[in-house]
Amino acid sequence: MNDVFIALGSNIGNRSVFLRRALKEIDSLHGTQIERASSIYETEPIGYTDQEAFLNMVALVRTELGALELLGKLQTIENKLKRTREIHWGPRTIDLDILLYNQENIQTEVLKIPHPRMLERGFVMIPLYELQPDLHFPHTDENFSEIIEERIDNKGVYVWKRNNGEGEFGLFEN
Ligand code: ATP
Ligand code: CA
Ligand code: CA
Repeated sequence: MNDVFIALGSNIGNRSVFLRRALKEIDSLHGTQIERASSIYETEPIGYTDQEAFLNMVALVRTELGALELLGKLQTIENKLKRTREIHWGPRTIDLDILLYNQENIQTEVLKIPHPRMLERGFVMIPLYELQPDLHFPHTDENFSEIIEERIDNKGVYVWKRNNGEGEFGLFEN
């Protein structure tokens, strides 16, 4: 089994429903379970800023799928949830990024792990820190709390729905 951290984001339509539907779809992939999920955070867009606020979260997933295979499945889920690509870093119903796959370093044309931009993104690192504060990053000696304190800007990242450990994936009912 492989331990994988996946970042989820949505800023179109009923954002929390898209997150929840994506979690369900991931959980129903062959040989794959959602182990734990972070709280849901509301975050101000960065990069392309003329768009609605995002909901972001991170999930810890255990899977038998290989990394490339998993990427393909996540893209199928994105398409199923009406993801389109018009503007780079633009609005989307759902975005599913693989942050970490075990402690592996994968550098191919279509898949780069660790996700190359994760260490500079509060909307990724803050939910990830909530989920796994003792996480070790491949190829760094820095511990996670040092990274959070020294490099992560929490501006524009707010808890939107606290994970209270109840309901499916410990998130919320319905
Ligand atoms: P960013 O990657 O900066 O968060 P984005 O999520 O908006 O931007 P997308 O349009 O969703 O970018 O994806 C572009 C391509 O990124 C995908 O087609 C995929 O092949 C590639 N990719 C590379 N590494 C990863 C990864 N770790 N997780 C998901 N996609 C990845
Ligand atoms: Ca992304
Ligand atoms: Ca993506």
